[in-house]
Amino acid sequence: MRPSARALLLAILTLAGASPVRSEAPTAAASPDFAGCVGGLKTLAEERGVPRPVAETALSGIAPDPAVVPATQSQAEFVKPVWEYVEASVTPERIATGQAKLAEWSEVLGRIEAAYGVDRHILVAFWGVESNYGAALEGAGIRPVVPALATLACGDPARPGLWRDELVAALKILADGDADAERMRGSWAGAMGHTQFMPTAFLRHAVDFDGDGKRDIWHAVPDALASTANFLKQSGWRAGEGWGLEVLLPDGFDYRLADETTERPFAEWRTLGLKPAGGAFPDGAERRAVLLLPTGAKGPAFLLEPNFRVILRYNTALAYALTVAHLSDRLRGAPGFTRDWPRGDRMLSTEERTDLQTRLSALGHPVGGADGKIGPKTRAAIRAFQAAKGLVPDGYADAALLEKVRAAGAPAP
Ligand code: CA
Repeated sequence: MRPSARALLLAILTLAGASPVRSEAPTAAASPDFAGCVGGLKTLAEERGVPRPVAETALSGIAPDPAVVPATQSQAEFVKPVWEYVEASVTPERIATGQAKLAEWSEVLGRIEAAYGVDRHILVAFWGVESNYGAALEGAGIRPVVPALATLACGDPARPGLWRDELVAALKILADGDADAERMRGSWAGAMGHTQFMPTAFLRHAVDFDGDGKRDIWHAVPDALASTANFLKQSGWRAGEGWGLEVLLPDGFDYRLADETTERPFAEWRTLGLKPAGGAFPDGAERRAVLLLPTGAKGPAFLLEPNFRVILRYNTALAYALTVAHLSDRLRGAPGFTRDWPRGDRMLSTEERTDLQTRLSALGHPVGGADGKIGPKTRAAIRAFQAAKGLVPDGYADAALLEKVRAAGAPAP
């Protein structure tokens, strides 16, 4: 799946009904070059194996979708703390509906588990997060995919190649007969159906599970859930293993161990004083996990097993993966997190995060590019800075940390 586009979509979906349409007029998409650009797309599609009549029919006479390009431009400033993502999707209603879906689709889910080795609670959690079990597919923002992707391919100068690839994939889906142009609807970014596959992901992973000859992720729940299971299996999902669990850390814990990259056996974590917040550590000496503190020492801690990385293949945002993982537990009947989040913290803006990254680099702690996104490399740089300053090295980027980094004397960018 295309993680960048998926992350954009998530940000849009979590706006709780807010329209992604902004008031600014679209820029390049409305230019008189659109028709010429679309002509080039027809040629490109043909070069990549799409029958010319399919491209002609799908692309002729289309107009730029005025909502689409502004939607891409609204994303960078969107900042939301991790717990807001989790709590926006893991609501009592979302849990109750998911449990009803588990009962409704029990027989199909049993066959999908047998075929792909992916647990039903994870699959239904993806379904709930991606489309609210299909309810979001009726929303006003759902639009024909081909014009949306053509608008992006011709109007988003940041990533035209990505959108061209997705558009050609969408045309191949039409050519294969899995959907027609009217039924092939999706988000402004081209994410389609109950579990929001991008067209390239559809071509690689979608399956016909109900046996009617079409891979219909838009209307056939068995096809959508089995396609998601197939994606996860092909991405390395380990049958019989979970995603991980919340843990409690002992007093005086050495936070340098929470480096997100060092896998240790559960027995070793137990020896280091970690305890499951609920339930138990998994059996089996070969089971290993990394320790992650999404909001540092002030919030919940998690031991993450390899399957968590597979969830991140669907969408690279940590908040997204944690949301799917937690919803799967709640669908199973598990309680909420034991430790609360640092809700009083002010989130850093994109500008502040970029400033933080620039300053950390200048102080000799490389962040792998100052892009305003806090990922594993930035958290590692923060831990290194904290350790050098005698602070608790928990890797959390909050306003207090930024003040300390600014006070450390790195030059302004
Ligand atoms: Ca089917």
